[in-house]
Amino acid sequence: MLAKWMTIHNKQNPFYELFDDICDIMAEYDVCFSLGDGLRPGCIADAADKAQLSELKTLGELTQRAQERNCQVMVEGPGHVPFNQIEKNMKLQQKYCNHAPFYVLGPLVTDIAPGYDHITSAIGGTAAGFYGASYLCYVTPKEHLGLPDIDDVRQGVVAAKIAAHAADVARGFGNASQRDKQLSIARAGFDWKNHIELSLDPKTAGKFHQEACKKSGKTSEKDDFCTMCGKDWCSMRINKELAKAYKK
Ligand code: SF4
Repeated sequence: MLAKWMTIHNKQNPFYELFDDICDIMAEYDVCFSLGDGLRPGCIADAADKAQLSELKTLGELTQRAQERNCQVMVEGPGHVPFNQIEKNMKLQQKYCNHAPFYVLGPLVTDIAPGYDHITSAIGGTAAGFYGASYLCYVTPKEHLGLPDIDDVRQGVVAAKIAAHAADVARGFGNASQRDKQLSIARAGFDWKNHIELSLDPKTAGKFHQEACKKSGKTSEKDDFCTMCGKDWCSMRINKELAKAYKK
């Protein structure tokens, strides 16, 4: 729309021309604002093309101008990037934009999975987070297909939270991996209640477990196996038997 306006009127982007005035207003009201990127890649074939990278340099210039006027800014990043180019994208943004917080739309690492773009974006989101992205925008399974409904939004948010948590674990942030450890201890101890409560999506985990129990006739929450391998083949149950035998 902006490009159309500029073409019709043969004028520079007014937001660019008036950027310093906009910064002054944002600074006066202490507003943190986002510098968007209209030339970001719309498919992985366009990733890191001339348009995207020259816009990133302009975003770096605007970041500097905003920071000089005491404005807090964040910078929008790409949405479609092959996995092997994600690190380069994150490093370039940090270099051009003076380490301003960078947020990415996924990024989707392949274009061939409409219907599953919450997954393609979560794969890229973990890599982006690991290499320095400050936050991830969620993508729903309906991306490129239609307006998401509430369930699509839920799936997209859960996928993005998984991606972000995986990146936090890999970067050694705070106690991120502590929850993984606690859940693993609950899992190994057949503590189904805590296993499910500590999970990122207890509603879905609990539903799956109950459904599986119901189907198989396994009713006790205290059972030392699940229906995945079954009682006879449950390696964790067998390990416990071994541990007991060795103790004797
Ligand atoms: S049955 Fe298999 S999946 Fe289930 S608790 Fe035992 S080892 Fe784990």
